[in-house]
Amino acid sequence: MEDLYATLGVSRTASADEIRKAYRALARKHHPDANPDDPKAEERFKEISHAHDVLGDPEKRREYDARLRFGGRAPNGGGAGAGGGADMGGFGDFADIFSSIFRGGGGGRGRGQGGAAAARRGADVEVEVNLSFEQAMAGAQVPVQVETPVACSDCGGSGARPGTSPRLCPECKGRGVLGRDVGSFAFSETCPRCGGNGTVIDDPCPTCGGTGSTSTRTQIKVKIPAGVKDGTRIRLKGKGQAGAGGGPAGDLQVVTRVAPSRLYTRRGDDLVINVPVTFVEAALGAQVEVPTLDGRVKLTVPAGSAEGRQLRIPGKGAPRLKGEGRGDLIAKLHLEVPRELSKKQQDLLRRFADLDARDPRETLFS
Ligand SMILES: [Zn+2]
Ligand SMILES: [Zn+2]
Repeated sequence: MEDLYATLGVSRTASADEIRKAYRALARKHHPDANPDDPKAEERFKEISHAHDVLGDPEKRREYDARLRFGGRAPNGGGAGAGGGADMGGFGDFADIFSSIFRGGGGGRGRGQGGAAAARRGADVEVEVNLSFEQAMAGAQVPVQVETPVACSDCGGSGARPGTSPRLCPECKGRGVLGRDVGSFAFSETCPRCGGNGTVIDDPCPTCGGTGSTSTRTQIKVKIPAGVKDGTRIRLKGKGQAGAGGGPAGDLQVVTRVAPSRLYTRRGDDLVINVPVTFVEAALGAQVEVPTLDGRVKLTVPAGSAEGRQLRIPGKGAPRLKGEGRGDLIAKLHLEVPRELSKKQQDLLRRFADLDARDPRETLFS
């Protein structure tokens, strides 16, 4: 039988004043207007109000105390006294509470005052997806395997061996909280026996080990936006672990692992490519072709370009994850010095050197 004293978190010897104070504090805390996002708030508030209706009325309280002593049955053969019919409605009928309990894995369940199983948000789940550099630049649809807990099909999520049911916690009588007297104060604490669930399992379901859930592998398609980097996180709301007790599911965090490119390195949203040029092209200037994500483009190498010179090709970099458009492609010139020269080439270079009177090391000694 429901313990209205535990509902209010007061002792059975509490004074009318203590009961009124406990009720006011709980009613403020659990009022549906103060908990607009909690679908269970109204139910809890009704339980608290009901407990106060009975315990706050001296006559009803006397009658309730008598029923407590008689193990839940009304004295005198069950005849309802003044207002008794309404007060007793729902006593002993815990089926609704049982069916609303979904046991998630792991700890963290239980709550202080309030009654039925705690609503708990599911955990966030993190998965890595491997992408080629080209996929990261173009965006992709990637199948991702996620382990999702589902209610155990053998026990229907109750966690008890099929054919058995969880039974009402004998310690807290299903409230999930215990009222405890210390001196003249009444405390209420999460029931240590059931961890706040209000039920205990004597014979756990062998399939799920009493947790009430098993995990299943499901595949979902994750849309990877163009321009992701190695280590970019994409959050998919509500695609993580299922919640417990009607709580919301956690999020799925997709972390992208991007393979390095043979040609490009990233610098923010810009891409850098090394472009080999002959020393003649660097000296005289040239039009050279450079590969970009969109195919070849012509690049003008200005006459007199030094090794390592960086030339910017606008709008040919990585797509910007935040904001519009793309970064730039930076062509970094790399001068190639010929290693094997024919006799004629050597002659021509010597003639060139004879014409160039400048000493490049002049500044080292000045
Ligand atoms: Zn099971
Ligand atoms: Zn308990």
